[in-house]
Amino acid sequence: MLTILSEIPEALLQCDARALNHVLPGPTLIKLEGQRREVLFVSVLLHGNEITGWETLRSILLNYRDRLLPRSLCLFIGNVAAAAQGRRCLPGQADYNRIWKADADMAEHALAREVLGELDGLPLFAAIDIHNNSGMNPHYACINRLGANFLYLARLFSRTVVYFIKPDEVLSLAMAAYCPSVTLECGQPGETTGVSHAREFVEACLHLSAFPDQILPDKEIDLFHTVATVKLKPGSRIGIAQSGVDFALLPDMDKLNFTELPAGSLFGWCNRPTLPLQAWDEQGQEISAQYFDVHEGEIITRTSVMPSMLSLDQEIIRQDCLCYLMERLSLGQAKRKYAD
Ligand SMILES: [Zn+2]
Repeated sequence: MLTILSEIPEALLQCDARALNHVLPGPTLIKLEGQRREVLFVSVLLHGNEITGWETLRSILLNYRDRLLPRSLCLFIGNVAAAAQGRRCLPGQADYNRIWKADADMAEHALAREVLGELDGLPLFAAIDIHNNSGMNPHYACINRLGANFLYLARLFSRTVVYFIKPDEVLSLAMAAYCPSVTLECGQPGETTGVSHAREFVEACLHLSAFPDQILPDKEIDLFHTVATVKLKPGSRIGIAQSGVDFALLPDMDKLNFTELPAGSLFGWCNRPTLPLQAWDEQGQEISAQYFDVHEGEIITRTSVMPSMLSLDQEIIRQDCLCYLMERLSLGQAKRKYAD
């Protein structure tokens, strides 16, 4: 299922994400040599509609068409078939960013095993997985380990950094076993600022000779820890500010992303006295009662929380989740509680 190349096919850099399937038969790994031997691994289009990663790499590779890259690069172009249709993933496919524990039997898990097998022998320097999101979010970096090099890499992209360990089937977590690894969230697809920001970051990583031996001061970074994933109860009907549905979103709910909400904030409406949402902590415990109350059709927050990834896109809410809830973490706390 995986195509492996050691050079860039002639027509590839003329293709936007929707046209990649004219040149590539499917998911593809391209290994390119550069001046420094240690390899920068970059993955794009794990979600076919999130085109910023491909636009970023396309522009960098065009720039280096006639010269050697400053560092060896291994590029994984993920869900080419979904990209052709501008979809996150196709019906019947596993989500390409939920397959990297590579422990199940679908074709996509076999693909993940194949990719990880190829990477296993490489001298890896760092790993970058580039995504977009659909709501209003700032650009931020996610890490799954709190080591100094992970924090340095994330801070190179944004002062807003999110640490999470669930979901644990993501590519950045699998790559954390090999090298400092980061997921970039570059705003919504199609925004040119996302491409220019990601491009600056990837270029900086290509030029970085080594990770510095320095600890970031607390004031240099806004670090958040994901404490819960909020999902819709299966079978619930949703709408935006609509009466009669099981869960009604606030009309501009995505504006709450990365906003610290005090206890008692309105978080949507429901048509019955039981909560249509489920919040799960990183250990898989259901903890909705810690965060939400229902009072006369209003869903109210019980403690101060900060949501991320809230989106008004109902397909994404159904397929993935409504949002994540986060709490602020100091570097000192991070080191004491979680560093490994
Ligand atoms: Zn994504």
